[in-house]
Amino acid sequence: MIKKHDRQKNEKGRNDPRAQAALPIDPAVKARQFQTLRGMKDVFGEDQHRWFLLEKEARRSAEDYGFQWMETPMLEESALFVKTIGRGTDIVDQEMFSFETQGGEKVSLRPENTAAMVRAYIQHGMWTQPQPVKLWYWGPFFRYDRPQAGRLREFHQLGFEVLGDASPLADALLMIQAVELLGSIGITVDVELNSIGCTTCRPTYIEQLTQYYREHRSSICAECKKRLGKNVLRVLDCKERGCERIKAEAPQSVDALCEACKDHFMRLLEYLDERDVPYMLQPTLVRGLDYYTRTVFEIVVREPEAAAASGAAPASKLALAGGGRYDGLVEFLGGRPTPGLGIAFGIERVIHAVRNAASTVPEPVEKRVFVAQLGEAARRSALKLFGKLRQQGIPVAHSFSKDGLKAQLEVANALKVPYTLIVGQKEVLDHTVLIRDMEGGVQEIVAEDRLISELQRRLSELNGVKAVRVPAPPIEPDEPLDPEDIEVL
Ligand code: AMP
Repeated sequence: MIKKHDRQKNEKGRNDPRAQAALPIDPAVKARQFQTLRGMKDVFGEDQHRWFLLEKEARRSAEDYGFQWMETPMLEESALFVKTIGRGTDIVDQEMFSFETQGGEKVSLRPENTAAMVRAYIQHGMWTQPQPVKLWYWGPFFRYDRPQAGRLREFHQLGFEVLGDASPLADALLMIQAVELLGSIGITVDVELNSIGCTTCRPTYIEQLTQYYREHRSSICAECKKRLGKNVLRVLDCKERGCERIKAEAPQSVDALCEACKDHFMRLLEYLDERDVPYMLQPTLVRGLDYYTRTVFEIVVREPEAAAASGAAPASKLALAGGGRYDGLVEFLGGRPTPGLGIAFGIERVIHAVRNAASTVPEPVEKRVFVAQLGEAARRSALKLFGKLRQQGIPVAHSFSKDGLKAQLEVANALKVPYTLIVGQKEVLDHTVLIRDMEGGVQEIVAEDRLISELQRRLSELNGVKAVRVPAPPIEPDEPLDPEDIEVL
């Protein structure tokens, strides 16, 4: 039944010239076939399998790395994007699909998701949850860009956002996760990486860069001259040949970092080295959004040697994913000071790369093991172990941002894992790992080189027999591990 006030509202909408202008009224449209709008695509046929494959692996990756799903609306207040992405960026100045609703609200189709995720984090009081809050999403995004290879007006992104973790390990984990996710669907990639500093050191860098470009004003393109006045970092995105030459000699942001940013960056690189992540420092990488601080990175398909030698295949140079830190964004949007970071993958670009790569995908196994660590050296070792297990197809979980064993075992219990692997200082020195049976609480030492085969045996037994699980005994407060309690295998 239509209520009176709804009818009145409908009448009002019909009489509203803005609403009518949005409707197709040309009678000739009846006689022609409709097509997708320019820069927008239907996904079907063979590609659907690739989409499902990516979605399945993304979901598995999200679970392993402890992300919860969040879906935000496709429409948001335009001001949210203008405020966060910033005036002077291509997205805000030229690319947003914006309009006014019948009710007079100024809204935009989302051009990206970090701003909306941060809006949601604040709106739902998520700072009251245990930190970090890790969220992931998958969905359509809209930018009124010039359609070309790898650049659509409606495209899809898959993304991971981490709120409430300032550690460089969080940056490293996001990159490791991205390399692994793409590797799991057969794409070999490199990480391009830079640090653009924080509110303390970036102004100095911007001054140096502005000064340098002013000195070379006569040699740069017209667009860069405009950028120089509006958003000088964007000059580093320019691909014009003349500007490339100027860019090569420009001051680099890493040279202007303050001590805290330098330390963050160095520790990040150490974590990446620890896991042999293929990264390249890219001093001109700034990424065009205003909210980034410190780490910025992009994931690119590794160029086949032949293509690299010929200088061809520009499409493969397009980033499959990009991300960075945004430590000031939550506060900027009215929340408490909360560090944050995230990554977004362009799904169409990833699917295109899958098409070009031959891939075989291992099926995920049902039961997972949890990796727990005690102390900094153990954390590094556990980080490595985590990757090794995933490489071997052993489903894993972790909570690296927690320090205490008790807190980590609580997470392991909540995940209902049958086994937790514990790495402490002693285990690092002895090249061993403790396997804790979460049902009985029994802990056993296993030599590192026997660990994989031991876990494979145990998990295949478990996955073959649907065991009825009983709750693990209560967890004692943290205390040093007592080797006498442990039966040596
Ligand atoms: P950004 O949100 O600009 O950091 O982009 C993250 C990722 O989304 C990029 O690395 C691309 O893979 C993808 N992407 C961005 N813009 C487009 C577009 N117009 N068409 C297709 N993919 C895009």
